Amino acid sequence: MHSDLESILKTAGQSVTKPRQAVFETLSHTDEPLKNGEIAKRTPQVDRASVYRTLELFTKLGITTTTIRGWTPFTELAEPFKPHHHHMICEHCGSVEEIASDTLEDVLTLIANRHQFILKSHTVELSGLCDSCSKSLPQPVAS
Ligand SMILES: [Zn+2]
Ligand SMILES: [Zn+2]
Repeated sequence: MHSDLESILKTAGQSVTKPRQAVFETLSHTDEPLKNGEIAKRTPQVDRASVYRTLELFTKLGITTTTIRGWTPFTELAEPFKPHHHHMICEHCGSVEEIASDTLEDVLTLIANRHQFILKSHTVELSGLCDSCSKSLPQPVAS
C-alpha cells in the first residue's frame, strides 16, 4: 500500500512527508467517504491546513476521489487503493452502503458506446431510504 503512495508522490515530483502519510493512513482505515473536516479530526497529529492541502494534492494526483453531497465534498481513497464501487446513501439517517455491480458497469459502457463516447470515469450515487428507515417511516401517499 505505502509503496504505491510513495511511487505516486515521487512520480509527481512530490516528497513523501509525515503529514501526507498520516492523512493516507486515516483514509485507509475508513470504509466510507468522509468530510474533509472529519478527516482532519481523525488525523490530530497534522494541523488542519496541512490536511486540506494534502487532500487537494491527493485528489489532483488521483489518490483520492471527492464526491459532492448536498454542498459538502466527501473524500475517500480512489483506485487502486480501493476497489471500484458506488454508494447508496440514506437521506434520513445518513447511512452509506457500498455497492459494486458488474451490471451497472456494463450498462454504463454500453450507453457510452452507443453514443460513440469514450468513457473515462463516472460518478453514480444512489440516494433514498435504507431498509430500517423505510420500515420506520410512514410511507408517502401516492398522489
Ligand atoms: Zn436510514
Ligand atoms: Zn462504476
